[in-house]
This record gives sequence, structure tokens and C-alpha cells, in this order.
Amino acid sequence: QVAAMVADALDTVQPDGPDRSAEVLHRLTTALAAGAADPAHPHCAAHLHCPPLAVAVAADTVASILNQSLDSWDQAPAATAMETRIIAELADLAGYDGQRAGGVVTSGGTESNLTALLLARDHALAAHSDIDPTRTGVAAAADGARPRILCGEVAHFSVQRAAALLGLGEEAVITVAVDSEHRMRPEALRRTLHQVRENGDVPVAVVATAGTTDLGGIDPLAAVAHIAAEYGVWLHVDAAYGGGLLFSDRLRGLLDGLSRADSVSLDLHKLGWQ
Ligand SMILES: *Cc1c(COP(=O)(O)O)cnc(C)c1O
Repeated sequence: QVAAMVADALDTVQPDGPDRSAEVLHRLTTALAAGAADPAHPHCAAHLHCPPLAVAVAADTVASILNQSLDSWDQAPAATAMETRIIAELADLAGYDGQRAGGVVTSGGTESNLTALLLARDHALAAHSDIDPTRTGVAAAADGARPRILCGEVAHFSVQRAAALLGLGEEAVITVAVDSEHRMRPEALRRTLHQVRENGDVPVAVVATAGTTDLGGIDPLAAVAHIAAEYGVWLHVDAAYGGGLLFSDRLRGLLDGLSRADSVSLDLHKLGWQ
């Protein structure tokens, strides 16, 4: 029914006909609202997206009207300065030195995980072979070894996606057992890392999750950071969901250890719009 409403509204658009954009906008908006999952509904509980605050909607409207392109400073001077400032503030919240940490605003958690794992891949392979994979491609830089990414069994599927896009292949992702609270088991992580090294493979990154997508489990970040450091492996924390805890004075402590990560993903279109 919703699909039919959308098709019906789009069918009204005729390139040669009179301008019916106001009518089409109205019909499409009606179809979109009627077929939307409503995060403000009292029965819509415990999923990831929040009902945005009015001020967030207003800010989004301004951003749409100005349509700045953040790929270069000359196309978006103020927005570039704002992005830099926001990154510094978020880095500070995450416990990093906001002056030294860097970052980028992406489309969401999937692209953030991809970006972080790109950095981890290049870091690990350059250390392994002294060859920069950005220049030579993965095969030359891996020099016969197999790059590996370790994450908990219930990590988000974007970790496998990123591995595929980065030329490592989904099979490069090795999952580590979790406990009854869906948190990565530190001793299982240590065993797996040990095995990877024994096999002569290259551990590219350990990905811990702070707030698993379905159940909200938070991996023991401090213990995981300790083990990653012991093996000299890049630690990425996927805090796409749980990163919202940083905004709470009461709950922030649940993310203790986050600041020891080499990279962090936050997903602002989840709790950020609150
Ligand atoms: C939602 C989520 C993602 C993906 O975020 P998108 O914004 O949908 O790309 C990644 N990791 C976790 C843990 C998530 O909950």
C-alpha cells in the first residue's frame, strides 16, 4: 500500500506537463510519513534511532538549504571550521586530546568503520613489510602474509563489509567468542591473537563494540585495550550505538577504556539527534 502511494505520487510527475511539484511534494511526504517507522510513537521502544529534537530538525534544514560541500575548504569555509571544532569536541568527550586527535564526519557507522579499518590496514601492512599499501595495493604490502581483523561474534556486519571493500576479503574477519552478556571474552581474544601470530598472519585490528546493535552489549574495553597493546595491534572501537553514553554524566563510565582506542566510530544519527 505504501509502495503504491509512492508510485502513484511519482506517476504524477510529467516532464512536459505543468509544474505540479507542490502537489507531488505533498503526496510524497504523506506517503513517506504514513509508511514511516515512527520513533516518537510510545510503542516504538529500544531501537537505535531517536525522535530528533526540534532544534536538530531546524539545524538540518539550514544545512540542507546551504548545501555545503565539505570536500574542500574553499567550497565550505565555515562548515569546514565547524567540522574541525565538532571533531575536537567529540574527541575530547571520548577522552582523547582534542587538540591532537583527528577525525571526519561520515554518513554513519558503516562508513566510519570502513575509514578506521582503512587506517588500521595501512598502519599494519606498512609496519609488516615497509610497503605502503595505498601505493602498491594490498597484495604487495602483505608480502605473502594474510591480514586478519578480530571482532566479537556479535559485532556489526559492517566489519565484514569493510574487510571486503579494503581488499582483505570477508574471510579475513575472525570472530572471537562472547560471554552470556554478549561481550567479547578477553581470554578468547588473547588465544585468537596468539593463533594469528603463530600462523604467520598479520593482525590488522581488533574491533571492540561499545553497544552491540541488537542487544547493547559493551565489550570490556580496558581489558581488550590491554591485550591489543600487548600484541601491538590497532584497536578500533565501534561505538556507533553506545557512543551516545558519552553525553550522559551518569552513564559515561560504562565506556571506560574507550580513550585507549586508536580509532572510534560514533553514529550521530542514532542518539546524536537528541
Ligand atoms: C548502527 C550500527 C552501525 C552502522 O551504522 P550506519 O549508520 O547504519 O551505517 C555500525 N555498528 C554498530 C554497532 C551499529 O549499531
